[in-house]
Amino acid sequence: MKRRNFLKNASLTGVGLAVGSSLASCAENASEDKKAIANTSKASLPLVIANWHVIDATAKAMEVLQAGGTALDAVEQGCKVEEANEKGQSVGKGGLPDRDGNVTLDACIMDKHGNCGSVVYLKDIKHAVSVARKVMEDTPHVMLAGEGAKQFAIEQGFEPEDLLTEASKEAWEKWKIEAKYKPIINIENHDTIGMLAIDKNGDISGACTTSGLAYKMAGRVGDSPIIGSGLFVDNEIGACVATGLGEEVVKTVGSFLVVELMRQGKSPQEACEEAISRIVNKPNNDYKNFQVGYIAVNKQGETGFYSIHQWFSMTKFQDGVNEQIQSDYFNKE
Ligand code: ASP
Repeated sequence: MKRRNFLKNASLTGVGLAVGSSLASCAENASEDKKAIANTSKASLPLVIANWHVIDATAKAMEVLQAGGTALDAVEQGCKVEEANEKGQSVGKGGLPDRDGNVTLDACIMDKHGNCGSVVYLKDIKHAVSVARKVMEDTPHVMLAGEGAKQFAIEQGFEPEDLLTEASKEAWEKWKIEAKYKPIINIENHDTIGMLAIDKNGDISGACTTSGLAYKMAGRVGDSPIIGSGLFVDNEIGACVATGLGEEVVKTVGSFLVVELMRQGKSPQEACEEAISRIVNKPNNDYKNFQVGYIAVNKQGETGFYSIHQWFSMTKFQDGVNEQIQSDYFNKE
């Protein structure tokens, strides 16, 4: 089931999952943790947020954080859960293909130092987020694309495999007949996993991974692997990750914009709302026919999220509660 459909169908009060004891109380025993809590007067740490309904992914990320892992490890491990989930048709294995039937993945990752890595148009390797991390850590570059990215991944020990599942192939074949091979933009044809985490030391990292718009033109790349558009992390200020029609996010450098608005004093919620308004207030904007959503966190651990349409949600794991929360949204007519 698509994440947005789950949200349409589910009772939101039923999807929260309380797990374990308060993370804040666990943290109080270590002096380093006390320092971290003092630095974050508004929220207890660690915390993880992600777009859409991905409680298994946020649970994995929190497991990493509770074990003392970094925010960087947490977001990578969390995103990998969805990349390996063949039933999710928007990320990693099982992602819906481009209009020629190729599954091509985009991903990026950014750490507390502002280091970043990204892959675009990656074929046959499901854990795009981990390849992006390797680009960040093991090359002098920020971005690798296409065949070069795949060759790099194989050299790094990633196993190539066919990412097109029977279910996604069937959906593509049906689409080819119904849409007459014409790439279409609408509010349903996409999804991305974007995840932000703050570890117990108060350090922030983020990651983003996607198969992009379903049935896109071959070679199309969206916002998700573009640092500043799909994702931006500034450990002094906060972080943001985007989902939706990447072309619109790129045009406003959306995630960087949200972080800069927070730098100017806006809360994460206010910053996300302002970034959405920059899109919808453009002249001749066709916002009724596409979706963009942002989630953000600031250094104090406050979170915010906002979308153009109502089918957007955030999964948040904090204080032992892992829950899906529905977004407020712009287009209320
Ligand atoms: N932003 C992604 C892209 O445009 C898709 C999505 O988030 O749904 O490729």
